[in-house]
Amino acid sequence: MKILRTISECRSTADAYRQAGETIGLVPTMGFLHDGHLALVAAAQRATTRTVVTIFVNPAQFGEAADLEAYPRNEERDLAMLRDAGVDCVLMPPLEEVYPNGDETIVETTRMANILHGQVRPGHFRGVTTVVARLFNFVQPDVACFGEKDYQQLQVVKQMTRDLAFPIDIIGVPTVREPDGLAMSSRNVRLGPEDRQATLVLSRSLNAADQAAAEGTTIEALYDLIKTIITSEPRATLRGLDIVAGDDLTEITGPLTTCAAIMISVEFGGILLLDQRVVSP
Ligand code: AMP
Repeated sequence: MKILRTISECRSTADAYRQAGETIGLVPTMGFLHDGHLALVAAAQRATTRTVVTIFVNPAQFGEAADLEAYPRNEERDLAMLRDAGVDCVLMPPLEEVYPNGDETIVETTRMANILHGQVRPGHFRGVTTVVARLFNFVQPDVACFGEKDYQQLQVVKQMTRDLAFPIDIIGVPTVREPDGLAMSSRNVRLGPEDRQATLVLSRSLNAADQAAAEGTTIEALYDLIKTIITSEPRATLRGLDIVAGDDLTEITGPLTTCAAIMISVEFGGILLLDQRVVSP
């Protein structure tokens, strides 16, 4: 497995792959890997012949410096996991490689970045699209994989890819969960035992919404149902709840007639966790 730190090394490796007739799958991550990330690697491996994983904790997508500082890191363990998974190449660029001129050039999906979670975390999705566009240019992959867990991020990246005409297929990968239903996340290790137990309210609320949707319901009733379940858990603070059209994230109201994405963000002891579920009537 190649470990690269510069754009020029990355370019020449990717060029060599292409000249040999290989196809390239990209998996962007911020490290501290878990089985969710490995599901993205497996999806890239199914779709292409060479897999490139990037590990870069992107300051541009963090609102608060403290959150960036606290982001967990373990390079050695990450590399061992990727080697075991049969990844071909890992790009771990320093900050100056990715942002040689700070934030002089940014990429933003102007509507999608500033609705929903984007309202709670101003600048977050602009940071994501800015770094993903740069990574796309460094690696020039055929395919790039993103998790459905970060549902708005997946839709924002798809929109940017279409609008900038990157010749890259974006693959959305279903959320990988712990046995008790908690979506795997690098943030989970920061939860104390009581908060960890309390997080079960997330999957409980989404399961209830899924069932209600299948039985026939309205968007308004889904909001009420989820809010009631989340607020019944004293350790949970609901930070964001949105139920929108599954494809373009536009607002929907009234009876549930098409597939809807439920996106939820809840804080437990200062740790913000996201989860999502796509439900249909
Ligand atoms: P991160 O390292 O948190 O930036 O995540 C990198 C990629 O992994 C993103 O596309 C995430 O959506 C995806 N991801 C994170 N957690 C999971 C999970 N539990 N299941 C599937 N994909 C995930």
